[in-house]
Amino acid sequence: GRKTSNRKSSGVYNPDMHTYLKETVLSEMNLRKGLDMNEFKLFYQPQVNCRTGEVIGFEALIRWQHPERGLIFPGEFINLAESTGLIMPIGEWVIQEAVQQLKKWAERGMGKMTVSVNLSPRHFLHHNFPFYLDKCIREAGVKPEKLILEITENVALEDQTAVTSRISLLKEMGFSISIDDFGKGYSAFIYLQHFPIQQIKIDRQFISELETDSKSTGIVQTIIHLAELLGLQTIGEGVETKEQWDILKSLGCSELQGYYFSRPVPVQEIDGLFDKYGRAGKLILPSIVDYA
Ligand code: C2E
Ligand code: MG
Ligand code: MG
Ligand code: MG
Repeated sequence: GRKTSNRKSSGVYNPDMHTYLKETVLSEMNLRKGLDMNEFKLFYQPQVNCRTGEVIGFEALIRWQHPERGLIFPGEFINLAESTGLIMPIGEWVIQEAVQQLKKWAERGMGKMTVSVNLSPRHFLHHNFPFYLDKCIREAGVKPEKLILEITENVALEDQTAVTSRISLLKEMGFSISIDDFGKGYSAFIYLQHFPIQQIKIDRQFISELETDSKSTGIVQTIIHLAELLGLQTIGEGVETKEQWDILKSLGCSELQGYYFSRPVPVQEIDGLFDKYGRAGKLILPSIVDYA
């Protein structure tokens, strides 16, 4: 474009423009094809009770099993999916898949588990979204409480009245709303003041600095305190060490998620864990069995 050289003065844009455009076009085509060919997969990352270490649910994270390129992570295609509108059918696929998984886990005695799905603002605010959700859970016979809807702070940049009524409706329908990457953006407190949400996920950045930066500890402590006052659950994201777990436990965080407990894994691995370590609908991960 004529104007782009002015806006992108870093010089990154121009040399790669040709390849960039070419790849974008190719990827969009491939993305459509990937969807048609059923090449997307959900990986599941356990979420644990911070006090006991017991698994309480999973976050579903999308991956693209590309026939030539192998496993592609969402960071490489979600933006493209959003700009092309493909995020709608992809998001519907994610919901359908997650709900079916909840059904399967309930059938094998793991009905206590929840699944959290990530939603793009555009999809979340789409007029058809609540109907689609309702259809999926009815068909599967899954309770809405089992499906947690994660939205990021970006949603708050949209029309506040629309966001408020959407969140209220979903709450009435029985779903829980979770704010992902809390604290990372600029509009975090708007949620707490106006939106009837149930859970906040404390951004990984704060967690990663807990051991080294007392400011991070202060911020996390304050977020947890505020959440308690407002009756919201807190999840610490990106927990990688026992020290971070200990600190979050002492601060009263409700739940944790991170590589320390488990990376996101294919559903077969979760089923393997249920088989080996699941007892009476409960699961303690082998990686933490000594600590819990
Ligand atoms: P998110 O929702 O904040 O998900 C957490 C990300 O952090 C995941 O990356 C996860 O693999 C990674 N993670 C988890 N524990 C740790 C840890 O201990 N250390 C580190 N360094 N990373 C950790 P992933 O799967 O690559 O997803 C990236 C982002 O892509 C997600 O961030 C979410 O915003 C988006 N995304 C993923 N799946 C979907 C989806 O189905 N739909 C939409 N719209 N977005 C999705
Ligand atoms: Mg998330
Ligand atoms: Mg997050
Ligand atoms: Mg994110």
